[in-house]
Amino acid sequence: MKKITLFLTLITAASVSFSSAQMVQEPRATEVWDKEPVKVTPGTHGAPPSDAIALDHDAWQSVNGGENKWTLEDGVMTITPGTGDVRTKKSFGDVQLHVEWRIPVLDAKFTDQDRGNSGVFLQQFYEVQVLDSYESKTYNNGQAGSLYKQHIPLVNATKPAMQWQSYDIIYTAPRFGKNGTVISQARMTVMHNGILIQNNVALTGPTVYIGAPAYKLHGDLPIFLQDHDHKVSYRNIWIREL
Ligand code: MG
Repeated sequence: MKKITLFLTLITAASVSFSSAQMVQEPRATEVWDKEPVKVTPGTHGAPPSDAIALDHDAWQSVNGGENKWTLEDGVMTITPGTGDVRTKKSFGDVQLHVEWRIPVLDAKFTDQDRGNSGVFLQQFYEVQVLDSYESKTYNNGQAGSLYKQHIPLVNATKPAMQWQSYDIIYTAPRFGKNGTVISQARMTVMHNGILIQNNVALTGPTVYIGAPAYKLHGDLPIFLQDHDHKVSYRNIWIREL
């Protein structure tokens, strides 16, 4: 009998304490009413959202000095081969970047990396490859949507030449200690034509053509677009600072 009484006492105590916990856990206790997100108006028909910076022709300058030497026609900026890369006048850290690009029709003699090659470089050093990878073959970590020689895209979402394509890139800049040590690597998420191709991957350092990448201390830097000797076109580029 004593055992039964003790058991009932314990059950009663447990249910009392459970009821008290329930009373504390009101819905409002876990609601956050401060830190309200800033209101942003989304763009319609491909237009930038209200808080984006449009990176139109005037937002860029030649890396060789002076004004942007790429052509501009009906809002479309096209590489003038041999004039060099262009870079934004403004520097950036963490960003969301939208870029639309188009590969020209090219003779079949242009193959591999020599077929509509360009590139979007975040903070000057970290390339998202632009290339005609619709049917043309190259090494997989160098095709369109690769983080050049570091990450192969999850799928090949490339469209044919002369069709507009898009990259939507989420970029987290690397963090460095005072002595240049890497606290956290650069990271990228990339959607190609709305399809996820890079999922928050870490970069092992700046993009390099030969050898192993190695980080070097830097702060905010411009976005670069690469002149790789083909008339690749760009339009509707916009950026949101994060
Ligand atoms: Mg390239």
